Amino acid sequence: MFEDKTLVCKDCGEEFVFSAREQEFYESKGFVNEPQRCKPCRDKRKNAGRGPRELHEAVCAACGGVAKVPFIPRDDRPVYCSECFAKIKEEESAAAEETVEATEE
Ligand SMILES: [Zn+2]
Ligand SMILES: [Zn+2]
Repeated sequence: MFEDKTLVCKDCGEEFVFSAREQEFYESKGFVNEPQRCKPCRDKRKNAGRGPRELHEAVCAACGGVAKVPFIPRDDRPVYCSECFAKIKEEESAAAEETVEATEE
C-alpha cells in the first residue's frame, strides 16, 4: 500500500504532499520519478505558455535601469534590461563569429 509522502517543491521550496492516491496514479502510468513540484507550481508551468508571463523587476547590471525579467532575479547573476541584453547578445555572437573564422584557417 502507498502512504502519503511529504516532498519539497523544487520551484518554491514549499513542502507538499504526494498522496497515496497520486502515487498509485503515478505507478499505474509507469512514472518512475516522484513529482518535483507542488501542484500550484506545476499548474504555473503548464500555463507558462499561455497568457502574459509574470515579470520581476530588477536593476540592470549594465545601465542601472529597470530590467523586467520572467524569473526571480538572484544576487549571483547579473540581470540586464532588454536593451542591454540585446546588445550583449549581439556582441557575443559577433565574438563567436570571430573565433570561428580564426580557427578555420
Ligand atoms: Zn511549489
Ligand atoms: Zn540596461
